[in-house]
Amino acid sequence: MITGAAGFLGSHLCDKFIKEGHHVIAMDNLITGDLKNIEHLFKLENFEFYHHDVTKFVHVPGKLDYILHFASPASPIDYLKIPIQTLKVGAMGTHNLLGLAKDKKARILIASTSEVYGDPLVHPQTEEYYGNVNTIGPRGVYDEAKRFQESITMAYHRFHGLDTRIVRIFNTYGPRMRLNDGRVIPAFMGQALRGEDLTVFGDGSQTRSFCYVDDEIEGIYRLLMSDYTLPVNIGNPHEITIRDFAEEIIKLTGTDQKIVYKPLPKDDPLQRQPDITKAKEILGWEPKVGREEGMKKTFQYFKTLSTEDLEKTEHRDFSSRNKR
Ligand code: UDP
Repeated sequence: MITGAAGFLGSHLCDKFIKEGHHVIAMDNLITGDLKNIEHLFKLENFEFYHHDVTKFVHVPGKLDYILHFASPASPIDYLKIPIQTLKVGAMGTHNLLGLAKDKKARILIASTSEVYGDPLVHPQTEEYYGNVNTIGPRGVYDEAKRFQESITMAYHRFHGLDTRIVRIFNTYGPRMRLNDGRVIPAFMGQALRGEDLTVFGDGSQTRSFCYVDDEIEGIYRLLMSDYTLPVNIGNPHEITIRDFAEEIIKLTGTDQKIVYKPLPKDDPLQRQPDITKAKEILGWEPKVGREEGMKKTFQYFKTLSTEDLEKTEHRDFSSRNKR
């Protein structure tokens, strides 16, 4: 069973599990997910879809081997818009799914994130680093939900002996990213396609490390199938500043856009790079797709979207960022 199945990562996980021969129960409340991402699977006999909000009691009939909890808004623009749902899906949603896993004697993998490290003071981030999170900032709703999610998962593991896995996902990109989710890659690609200037926040010296979706999914699958129960970073350690990244996108898209600078959102982490030693040693995993190749594939995907989709793109509303 995969929650958040109509989302970016959830839908790619559905594809992976179908490819590996599993029967997939997909669940989503479609707040940020889109059925378009999984509609090609509806015709399959080994695929079922439940339109359900996991913050409410979750019931599915029959046996379950694995649960993957990927339901959550995952972009700053989304968790500013729906902060309470973000907290609830990480806290109550996770609680419900842990209860379901216990009932079904299923193994459960929880999607955590590099946001548990906050604006990190240790670089690159190892799994042992406790993080630097502003609990009451705009990102706090996401960061703390994910931190609580890890705590309750470890509590079920230690107290009930539940078979659990925790992946810490770093920035991931690829086809099916939502064009209007405000994240940097869809934002830049949409701007390039509409012929607008690229908006870099702050002076663009902040860094990120982007992982192509196929690599991320492979790492998650391997973690689920391993017997390692502590958190594991899965991401691509190839780090770049956002300013250099904007230049790369301008080159890749063959456009002649300029870069314009906008204020840096509150608590925007200044640096982010996964230390993937554990994933390499325990899972024999490391990313294979370089940024140039991955970005080309991603741009191909965005080019297939309709003009109507492109026009619908929202821009980040800075006024709401620091409302209180
Ligand atoms: N960013 C940017 N321009 C945009 C959108 C994002 O410069 O139009 C920056 C953002 O401030 C952050 C980085 O790109 O430093 C990555 O942002 P994103 O929202 O993709 O993910 P985050 O890693 O911050 O969760």
